[in-house]
Amino acid sequence: MKKFSFPFIILTISLFLGVTLVQAQVKSTFISIGTGGITGVYYPTGGAIAKMVNRTKKDHHIHAVVESTGGSVFNVKAILAGTLQFGVIQSDTQFMATNGIGEWKDKGPQSTLRSVFALHPEAVTLVAASDAEIKNIHDLRGKRVNLGNLGSGQRQNAIDALTAVGIDYTKDIKAESIRALDAPGMLQEHRIDAFFYTVGHPSGAIKEATSGARKVIIADITGIDTLLEQAPYYTKTTIPVKLYPGTENVKDIQTFGAKATLVTSTKVSDEIVYTITREVFENLESFKKMHPAFSTLTKENMLTGLSAPIHPGAMKYYKEAGLK
Ligand code: GLU
Repeated sequence: MKKFSFPFIILTISLFLGVTLVQAQVKSTFISIGTGGITGVYYPTGGAIAKMVNRTKKDHHIHAVVESTGGSVFNVKAILAGTLQFGVIQSDTQFMATNGIGEWKDKGPQSTLRSVFALHPEAVTLVAASDAEIKNIHDLRGKRVNLGNLGSGQRQNAIDALTAVGIDYTKDIKAESIRALDAPGMLQEHRIDAFFYTVGHPSGAIKEATSGARKVIIADITGIDTLLEQAPYYTKTTIPVKLYPGTENVKDIQTFGAKATLVTSTKVSDEIVYTITREVFENLESFKKMHPAFSTLTKENMLTGLSAPIHPGAMKYYKEAGLK
């Protein structure tokens, strides 16, 4: 019998391992999920979705990665351009892109946007320094206020709310366009009097803003009934005061909001969207433990607040699960 030399055997094994590794690499499909700033709730939400998918990646070879981004509007644009495959976005942003309004007024309806499922509720949150004497949105006149960066979904919410109470954001306030990530620090450093953030609760950014030396209050946003009647995607909501013991609030905060949703595009395959949907829905109880903002999620309410057509891959799962 022919004897193989030791180097020959090593070479053969290395080649075999190398080929196997290359095959494994070729098979993995990487998908990226666009989120928001790292102190928001989108970022941990993207992380929770990725964790669900990656737990079983050896079965389906889909590997999810999370990207911190400028928020909802940025995510829609990147998904439609194909640089992101999924994104967490506000339900109002989804409605506007689908119907060609707001940011998409000139471009028209974005017909390739697809919804996957809805997530936690988001509240338009107005954090103000107590020394600035802002108890309600109506008190913002003349103040230095952050509306949010271009690319965020919250910016439109802040503008809508201000307009609804008769405040012209271009003249009646000193409007800033900084990222939500930077706003708590700027408030603590007395560089702004207040900031808006449309976010799930509790959120890292609001905790940061309410635990510094400068005392803060979360101001009510009321007197906006006409806006709520005109905009089907907004609903009244409250922020439980107990979530932020550092504020000077004594009662739950009255405001309005929308929902976080997961979206994708027609370019992403049914198989990928089906897998993501199945992994989250089949493991919903462990998913919900990953962030306190998920506490109210149910399989049923995760199918509400979607205005873009549901992606066929997600629909396949919903039909199989008897949800549609
Ligand atoms: N709703 C925010 C936006 O799109 C992001 C919130 C978050 O990151 O949790 O502007």
